[in-house]
Amino acid sequence: MPPEPAPLPCPALDHVRTRIAAVRHPHGATVRLLAVSKMQPVEAIVALAAAGQRAFGENYVQEAAAKRTALAALGLEWHLIGPLQSNKCRDAAALFDWVQSVDRIKIVEPLARYRPDAAPPLNVLVQVNIENEASKSGCTIHEIDMLADAIAAQPRLRLRGLMAIPAPHADPTARRAAFRAMRQQFDRLRGRYPDIDTLSMGMSDDFELAIADGATMVRVGTALFGARHATP
Ligand SMILES: *Cc1c(COP(=O)(O)O)cnc(C)c1O
Repeated sequence: MPPEPAPLPCPALDHVRTRIAAVRHPHGATVRLLAVSKMQPVEAIVALAAAGQRAFGENYVQEAAAKRTALAALGLEWHLIGPLQSNKCRDAAALFDWVQSVDRIKIVEPLARYRPDAAPPLNVLVQVNIENEASKSGCTIHEIDMLADAIAAQPRLRLRGLMAIPAPHADPTARRAAFRAMRQQFDRLRGRYPDIDTLSMGMSDDFELAIADGATMVRVGTALFGARHATP
């Protein structure tokens, strides 16, 4: 086996990693960085992968399919973080390693049914609409247990935790109430499912606050890649 190539320098990645490491997580958990690569070109993903980043998040199934094919040789980990339509479950189950946007019962069984036999179980997060915003994806807090039970009952799915996208309040500190409410739900659910390990919340402008309130995975796009493009 040839030795692993040394990572190439990437100042934006180093900077975000340093900022993550500087925040104390309340349980001392290790925080994972998800690089959100939607509307970013393949070359930008290659550059981050060369610097050692493994996990990438995409919002659109079709865009992710093209990128995954182009980058198959790199062995990256792909997360779906955008809304999932029922008619895209078959593609999503085959393309992604994680689906973070499971917010209704209707998509649980198809994701399990279409998960390819050769692949390990699909990692799943329940997406919660924590502020009960109208026209926003995510289940209510009252639906979390029902969805978690349905996911946990599927051998081809693996329940890993919860995800949320709090409203973009102009003042990021206003998001702390939502982060704290998510942390409460996560701790409560972990009482029933001790193996869950992932609370996905926090983006470019608030990931440090999210970690301080218990996030174990932050989803960062523009702080790593710069502004998004009109097309990928
Ligand atoms: C686009 C997106 C992100 C990343 O947003 P940035 O502000 O660019 O860091 C994170 N999570 C979700 C669900 C997104 O759609």
